[in-house]
Amino acid sequence: MKSRTRREFGCLTGAMVLAGLAPRLAAGEAKAKVVVVGGGIGGATAAKYLAASTRTIEITLVEPKLNYTTCFFSNLYLAGLCSLESLTHGYKTLAQRYGINVIHDSVAAVDPVAKTVGLKSGPKLPYDRVVVAPGIAFNYEALAGYDEAATQIIPHAWNAGPQTQLLRRQLESMEDGGVFVLVAPPNPFRCPPAPYERASLVAYYFKQHKPRSRILILDAKDSFNSQDLFLDAWERHYRGMIEWLPAQFTGGIKAIDVKGRSVKTASETFKAAVANVIPPQIAGQFAQQNGLVDQSGWCPVDPITFESKLQPGIHVVGDATSAGDMPKSAFVANSQAKACAFAIAAALTGSERQSPHLFNTCYTFLSPDDAVSNAVSFKPVAGTIKIIDNFVSQVQESVETRHQAAREAQSWYAAFTRDTFR
Ligand SMILES: Cc1cc2nc3c(=O)[nH]c(=O)nc-3n(C[C@H](O)[C@H](O)[C@H](O)COP(=O)(O)OP(=O)(O)OC[C@H]3O[C@@H](n4cnc5c(N)ncnc54)[C@H](O)[C@@H]3O)c2cc1C
Repeated sequence: MKSRTRREFGCLTGAMVLAGLAPRLAAGEAKAKVVVVGGGIGGATAAKYLAASTRTIEITLVEPKLNYTTCFFSNLYLAGLCSLESLTHGYKTLAQRYGINVIHDSVAAVDPVAKTVGLKSGPKLPYDRVVVAPGIAFNYEALAGYDEAATQIIPHAWNAGPQTQLLRRQLESMEDGGVFVLVAPPNPFRCPPAPYERASLVAYYFKQHKPRSRILILDAKDSFNSQDLFLDAWERHYRGMIEWLPAQFTGGIKAIDVKGRSVKTASETFKAAVANVIPPQIAGQFAQQNGLVDQSGWCPVDPITFESKLQPGIHVVGDATSAGDMPKSAFVANSQAKACAFAIAAALTGSERQSPHLFNTCYTFLSPDDAVSNAVSFKPVAGTIKIIDNFVSQVQESVETRHQAAREAQSWYAAFTRDTFR
């Protein structure tokens, strides 16, 4: 596999997206209607790029929350390195600059026969196409003892906002010398490196404020994404503070005792001062309830248009999809949403359809000044999506290279959230 630099990937992404967004307008036609379900990264990007590509489509974005808090960089918030406000974005620019009709409500159901989307508050919105981007749901049934009510005592903090604040408060009030137990989920799940980034940044926080404390990762898996990079960084930055126990060692996670704040594995029960349980995941509830999910728990999609393979006229982007080699990341959600927006604009305005260019770039913090990255390009191949090119940081990189990646990550955050919400 040919290796490329991160900078080359960045240039390719921008140029190809711009080249893809100029569909010919069909003059004199009534405005087609697109409803976007969910104003997270996938939904907000799809709405914005559709609006930027043509004025002949009326776009409505439905999202219950007034503001969106990013999961990416929320581990920095847990470490006390940024505020939650700095990770929070509103929808005003999408409405004012791009003319998107933003409705703060939940979508209850799609009626593919009547071609309407029903809002929880009652009204039904007619559509020509729907884009669904509901993110993830937690499969509580797969984890004995843990359910939605339990998240108020043992947070997952896998959706950013109140859950992240709760976990931060628990870390702050924990006594020095306590054990932070993190339960890492089975594949596939939202953002493969993020549990281990969380362990790294919580270790950084402990090192500054509670140096006798320890972190125990109880994993549902036997290996994890970029494992060599994390193990190397834990040895260099946090020697003796982080212990990772794979499923083959513990026999797997068996149950959570919420009141006792402990995690039962096949071999042993582990007591926590603070516990963070990240449950197994499936596509967001809306996708499950509207016939978009197959037996895998995720939404199969056409790799070029992101139209559902189960419900014609309904497109799915972001974490809810089952999209070949593409991981569940914000960058992927954004990349899929652009491809989907272009395909819908082409279908509704009669302009030329092109094969999409799909990318992922991911920055992961090991400490505030030590970050690694991963940049991948993908291609639709034989009904699925395959990796065609890949850049990954290496264990032996210099301190300056890692500093530079941490600086790039900060710039990436600003540029990426501008690309989605501004
Ligand atoms: C700790 C952590 C760190 C991460 N770090 C990174 C990173 O560094 N880089 C990266 O690329 N990715 C990262 N991610 C992953 C990233 O956050 C997700 O991949 C991304 O948010 C997925 O976007 P989405 O649009 O599919 O879902 P979301 O962003 O979750 O958006 C879904 C939206 O749909 C709305 N919704 C749900 N149901 C309905 C309904 N019925 N009606 C209307 N609206 C509805 C929700 O309110 C929500 O706003 C991280 C994740 C975590 C947990």
